[in-house]
Amino acid sequence: MEKVIIVGTGCAGLTAAIYAARASFEPLVLEGREPGGQLSTTTLVENFPGFVDGIDGPMLIMNVKSQAQRFGARFQYSTVTGFEPKDGHVSLQLDGAEWIDTRALIVASGASARWLGIDRERELVGHGLTSCATCDGAFYRNVPVAVVGGGDSACEEASFLTRFASKVYLIHRRDKLRASKIMADRALGNPKVEPIWNSAITGYLTDDLNEMRAVTLDDHVTGKSRELDVKCVFVAIGHTPNTAPFRGKLDMDADGYLLQKNGTRTNIPGVFAAGDVADRTYRQAVTAAGQGCAAALDAEKYLAHFE
Ligand code: NAP
Repeated sequence: MEKVIIVGTGCAGLTAAIYAARASFEPLVLEGREPGGQLSTTTLVENFPGFVDGIDGPMLIMNVKSQAQRFGARFQYSTVTGFEPKDGHVSLQLDGAEWIDTRALIVASGASARWLGIDRERELVGHGLTSCATCDGAFYRNVPVAVVGGGDSACEEASFLTRFASKVYLIHRRDKLRASKIMADRALGNPKVEPIWNSAITGYLTDDLNEMRAVTLDDHVTGKSRELDVKCVFVAIGHTPNTAPFRGKLDMDADGYLLQKNGTRTNIPGVFAAGDVADRTYRQAVTAAGQGCAAALDAEKYLAHFE
């Protein structure tokens, strides 16, 4: 029986690992399909406190992992495929095979950004393709950029990017935004934002350095295709929380985000949620780290009952 298992190695999971390890629980940390979480796919992180000149996302993650290991956290590459609450503990199935028991579980499995599914998408992330304007917007000053999506995220990102970019194209597949009126009005009311309706990106075009230089666009209404010069594409078509194995057992909202109550507690005693898996609002590395810390402290309090 493990004392604490942590699912996820983004900022939330790794911070939980530091705290749980320092509390002498020797937590077992499970790295799933996206080790390091979303930070491992970004380049420079300039808004994490303490790094005056910024720090590479993957470097930040490696540092936090080493810090957790220094205090005794154990890491294993396994994906959770099953979850069963039991009396006084929970069981997790790993990679569709063995089951493992733990007294406390911290679910920090994050949310994965949705992508368009276009050729070369993975290799261009960090090279003019991103899902986070807060993280990468400031790198694209005085150049044209595009945001894809029609929801609140797309409108928020488009408005934010007007601080830096010379022009922000808001590319949406329909002729009406899904976003709330206030967010839509703010984005569309900005003279730097130009909506492109009924359109979909069908290809990414790169320069000699393999950085984004343009996209190909199809207009569904006119049936015409064209090239649009942009230095970066911000894909804002939503996130999917990684909660599939917990469905029907842990309380979640309609989109699958875990629901927390009284701190990081879930509806199952001994199971805690931290980071983007339970956060559809802030989604920042530093807020995820804070939640990881809180979940480890809540787990420590819970485990005290068994001593
Ligand atoms: P969302 O509301 O689900 O919107 C996703 C958008 O992406 C939709 O416009 C959708 O088009 C489009 N889309 C989906 N798949 C696509 C594809 N394959 N190709 C092209 N376009 C695609 O997601 P979100 O904007 O991330 O918002 C998620 C939740 O967080 C919402 O509840 C939102 O209100 C909330 N949020 C709030 C704030 C805030 O209040 N500050 C900020 C951000 C998010 P269709 O419209 O055609 O479906």
